[in-house]
Amino acid sequence: MIRIMAYAKVNFGLRVGSRRADGFHPIFGRFQSISVADELAVAFSETDEIVAKHGGPVPAGRHNLAWLAIEAVRREAGSRRPVTVTLTKNIPVAAGLGGGSADCAAALVAAQRLFGISDESVADLSRELGSDVPFCLAGGYAQVSGRGERVEQLSPVGGFALALVVPPVELSTSDVFRQWDLMKGPQGSEVDTASLPTALRGEDFRNDLTAPALALRPEVGEWQAELRTRWGRDVMMSGSGPSLFAFALDAGEATDMVNDVPVGARFAGVAEPVATGWMMPEIS
Ligand code: ATP
Repeated sequence: MIRIMAYAKVNFGLRVGSRRADGFHPIFGRFQSISVADELAVAFSETDEIVAKHGGPVPAGRHNLAWLAIEAVRREAGSRRPVTVTLTKNIPVAAGLGGGSADCAAALVAAQRLFGISDESVADLSRELGSDVPFCLAGGYAQVSGRGERVEQLSPVGGFALALVVPPVELSTSDVFRQWDLMKGPQGSEVDTASLPTALRGEDFRNDLTAPALALRPEVGEWQAELRTRWGRDVMMSGSGPSLFAFALDAGEATDMVNDVPVGARFAGVAEPVATGWMMPEIS
């Protein structure tokens, strides 16, 4: 049995280009893996099964992104040997934190160990399975471009923690991109430099998906404004939202900020940057 942690990500800025002929929008941004994580246990078994614990609106069957990864690896290996995946879901779903992609990348790695396919095959499958999966496979701090398939890992950054809040709404990534098209490609606004940790000053923190996300769910803008006031600093949206975050000097300050979050958030917690997209704590 293989146990593996799958880390969420936040976007430190996300620039978007016009929809391409293949339907995808080119993106350009910096992605950071964070300490909020799902856990997967993957093992050979009598029958195929995926069990999701802590539920949420995660598809339990063959549409789960972790399961799609298992099937892709099995196809590649030419095997039909049954597998059970137990997914403990801690990353808020449809929040712009890349949870499904993180599970997919971790399942690819676990299945690679079980079925013995090459690193090149895993990299190829990650590109086929979803736009954020190549980043989740690499993890850490990286510049991501194309439709997400170009990942350039950067030196790890640190000296900060994040206060992370998911307002009580869900946003579908494709709906937010469609709204961005309808709004004729708005650009994200500048972020107050004083709110950024020293290691990240000078980075482009504009998130072009903020305006369409707020147009679809104005509550997200209300949460952002309230958190800005309570925390006394700029608050940014990750990816296609609705998750919001701000920087703290350390986990202690981030905890104080999280303790001051209005009631009703879907998630409020401290997140720290991690240098990897997945971690295998145990093989038994
Ligand atoms: P991203 O930031 O990569 O666009 P997200 O964080 O906004 O994604 P996810 O949590 O990955 O969103 O969920 C997106 C959709 O994927 C959900 O509607 C969910 O039904 C589906 N999904 C499939 N498998 C999973 C999984 N293992 N975990 C979460 N969602 C999953």
